Amino acid sequence: MEGCAACPFIVRCYDRVRPAANHFDGVCAARLWVNGKVAASAEGVEPLPKLPTQAGTCGTSSGVKGHRRLGEPLCGECRVTAQRADVRRAGAASIRKRASRGKALASAA
Ligand code: SF4
Ligand SMILES: [Zn+2]
Repeated sequence: MEGCAACPFIVRCYDRVRPAANHFDGVCAARLWVNGKVAASAEGVEPLPKLPTQAGTCGTSSGVKGHRRLGEPLCGECRVTAQRADVRRAGAASIRKRASRGKALASAA
């Protein structure tokens, strides 16, 4: 792992292995990983960048499924898509309606 510190391919190595999503055990990107979590890092290495998602098209149901398959949090667009799908699934009963004006007047009288 200490030999990794000078490796020019750290980010590519990280992108190729995607340790967290794959529950990786071993050495990748100048770090020792156990079950997808960093257990040790080589001295003086840069923090790892955020990798672009492989979830697919964000803002669509396949993007939502992609994030869930990869075990990553939903991005902003996919969160909105997932919320809309939940509301649709819950049906019209979940939408609160205002009491009709006639009923409100009758109860006030
Ligand atoms: S494990 Fe990755 S970072 Fe380490 S030397 Fe090999 S390619 Fe480079
Ligand atoms: Zn997304």
